[in-house]
Amino acid sequence: MNGRINIRNIAIIAHVDHGKTTLVDAMLKQSGIFRENERVVERVMDSNELERERGITILAKNTSVRYGPVKINIVDTPGHSDFGSEVERVLKMVDGVLLLVDAFEGPMPQTRFVLRKALELNLQPIVVINKIDRPDARVAEVVDEVLELFIDLGAEDEQIDFPVIYTCARTGQATLDMNEPGRDLRPLFETIVTNVPAPEGDENSPLQLLVNNTEYDSYQGRMVVGRVHSGRICAGQPVALIRHDGSITPAAVGRLYVFEGLKRTEVPAAGCGEIVTFAGLEDVNIGETVACRENPVQLPPIAVDEPTLKMT
Ligand code: GDP
Repeated sequence: MNGRINIRNIAIIAHVDHGKTTLVDAMLKQSGIFRENERVVERVMDSNELERERGITILAKNTSVRYGPVKINIVDTPGHSDFGSEVERVLKMVDGVLLLVDAFEGPMPQTRFVLRKALELNLQPIVVINKIDRPDARVAEVVDEVLELFIDLGAEDEQIDFPVIYTCARTGQATLDMNEPGRDLRPLFETIVTNVPAPEGDENSPLQLLVNNTEYDSYQGRMVVGRVHSGRICAGQPVALIRHDGSITPAAVGRLYVFEGLKRTEVPAAGCGEIVTFAGLEDVNIGETVACRENPVQLPPIAVDEPTLKMT
């Protein structure tokens, strides 16, 4: 079976305090508990466990959750970035976004800034109206405001036809009907799996991975974060690092990880569509391509940090 159909890569766009952390925590708690043909209901992570894991893995800003057979990678978007390119390179790893909006506050400047980027990158947003339990919630009005924002930002017809989910992230409930609280987050998971396209790309092609981000790990040094654009990546694999100017530096992948819950899990290999992080490339820059040594083909480089005005 093709592995890619069981992956979804998303980012959550939200203004500060609209509930992104709470929603991801709720998704983690319910991760893996919905299985169609299995009796066993997996253990649900409690808050203490989540806190402990968070403490250990401050570095791993990316998380993943499971809904049935599907792994949903949730890529962290910089909340306070003034750099359009920083947002852009993160959004280049995903195929869909959740636009999370507080049911009372409505869309705010950060919502607008990141949504604009997402729309420009042709991503199809799923609108999540959160905190519907607030006594002062004005759910229908906020949906209208979101619609106006899309129109204002010049969204395509298809993007304007966004699905809407109503949530109370704090209690882990989601619903498609704003008058019903919903039992759990199943409607949200379901909408993600149905509306966000599975990653494209050919697992049998030569490896191509865009360096979307780099992080520093005190034990392993520089870590590359990126999405396998085509082919497969293996730990220890000799690769070609293609620079912005097209020149090539031979290199080798070190230890390779995927994101599982709040942790990084070491794997021997990862297929096309997966978001991975790996060691081994000390002298690497964002926007470069990690490619097959025998058949190195460059991906379109991403722009590197040019400040863009937030309030445009
Ligand atoms: P973030 O800045 O977007 O990550 O926001 P947080 O997840 O930290 O949430 C900000 C505040 O909103 C916290 O006090 C949360 O408890 C609260 N909050 C989050 N989701 C809900 C919700 O569904 N209902 C209510 N009433 N409060 C919520």
